Amino acid sequence: MSQFWSPIVQTLTPYVPGEQPKLPGLIKLNTNENPYPPSPAVTAAVHAVTADALRLYPDPDSSELKQVLARYHEVQPNEIFVGNGSDEVLAFAFMSLLKHAAPLLFPDITYSFYPVYARLFGIDYVEVPLNAAMEIDTADYEKQSCGGIIFPNPNAPTGVLAPLAAIEALLIKQPNAVVVVDEAYIDFGGETAIPLIRKYPNLLVVRTFSKSRSLAGLRIGFAMGHPKLIEALDRVKNSFNSYPMDRLALAGAVASYGDEEYFRKTNAAIVDSREQMTAALEKLGFSVLPSHANFIFARHASYAAAQLATGLRERAIIVRHFNHPRINQYLRISIGNPDECNMLIQTLTLLTSAH
Ligand code: PMP
Repeated sequence: MSQFWSPIVQTLTPYVPGEQPKLPGLIKLNTNENPYPPSPAVTAAVHAVTADALRLYPDPDSSELKQVLARYHEVQPNEIFVGNGSDEVLAFAFMSLLKHAAPLLFPDITYSFYPVYARLFGIDYVEVPLNAAMEIDTADYEKQSCGGIIFPNPNAPTGVLAPLAAIEALLIKQPNAVVVVDEAYIDFGGETAIPLIRKYPNLLVVRTFSKSRSLAGLRIGFAMGHPKLIEALDRVKNSFNSYPMDRLALAGAVASYGDEEYFRKTNAAIVDSREQMTAALEKLGFSVLPSHANFIFARHASYAAAQLATGLRERAIIVRHFNHPRINQYLRISIGNPDECNMLIQTLTLLTSAH
C-alpha cells in the first residue's frame, strides 16, 4: 500500500536506532546511555508528581525548567528552547533554521540522524569529509557558501572534540549561516560553546539530558541561542505540539539540576573508566581515537570490527558497528560501569588472542 506514501517517504531511508535488546542480562554498550542511574533526587521528584497534576496539561512554556537552565548556564530564559529529547529539538532546527537555497553542510562521518532529517525536510546538503586524523576541520566549512552548518561537538561516533577557538573562527567566517553545535556529549570533558551565543546571533547550541544526566528514558533536550533563533524554533513547535515537555520529564529535569554533586561524581567516574578502557584497549592492539565523550571509537590492527562485534554479541556484550565504508573497521563502545568495562576487556582479550 506504499502508493499512499508521499514521494519523500517512499525514498526515505529512516534512521536505524541502536538495538534495545529484550533479553535481560546483556552488557549493553551500544547506545551511549549512562551506566549510573539518575540522581535519587530525580526519582523522588518523578514519584512526587500527583495524579491530579497528571490530569492537567503541562506548562506550555516549561517556565520553571527554563529558569533553572538559565541560572545554571548563565543565559536568559528567552534564549532557551526545550523539547522532547534533543532529536526533536534538532528536527525543529532543521525545519525552522537550516532549510535555505544554499546547501546545508555537515561531516561525512557524524550523527546519522542529520542526513535523514535533511532528506525528510527536503534540504540539500553536502557532506564534508573528516580529515585524515578523523577530526572535523572547521576551516573546510569556511570556504563554501552554505545555508547552514551542523555538527556534534564532540563528534559522534568518533568522540573527537573540535576546539572552541575553531568554532568561534567559523562563526566569524560564516556570519550569514546558522551554525548548530550539537553538544550531546560535551559534559564528558569538552568546552561548551554556550558562552558564545551572546556574541554570535547565528549560533545554536543543542543539549540533551540523555547522556551526562542519565535521563534517556525521560526524553529531554534543549537549545540555547539568540532569542530570534529561539522564536523560530517556537513557531515550528507550536505548529506541532504546544506542550513540548510532559509533567514527569519536567519534574525530573528540574531535580537533576538540583544535584550538582551527583552529576560531577558520576561524570568523573565515567571519564576515569574511559581513560582506563582506552589504555587497556591499546594494550590489546587497538588504536583508539582521543575521546571527549562517554564512548570510544577503536579499531584493531588485525581483527575485523564486524567479527569482533559478533564475537562480543555471542558472549552477551553489545557494542555498535557501522556499515559505512570509511568506518567499518571501528567499534563504538559506550563506557559502562567498572564491572562492565572489565568484562568487555576480558572478552576482547579472548577474542584477539584466538587464532
Ligand atoms: N545528538 C547526538 C550526537 C547523539 O548521539 C544523540 C543520541 N543518539 C542525540 C543527539 C539524541 O539524543 P536525545 O534525543 O536522547 O536527546
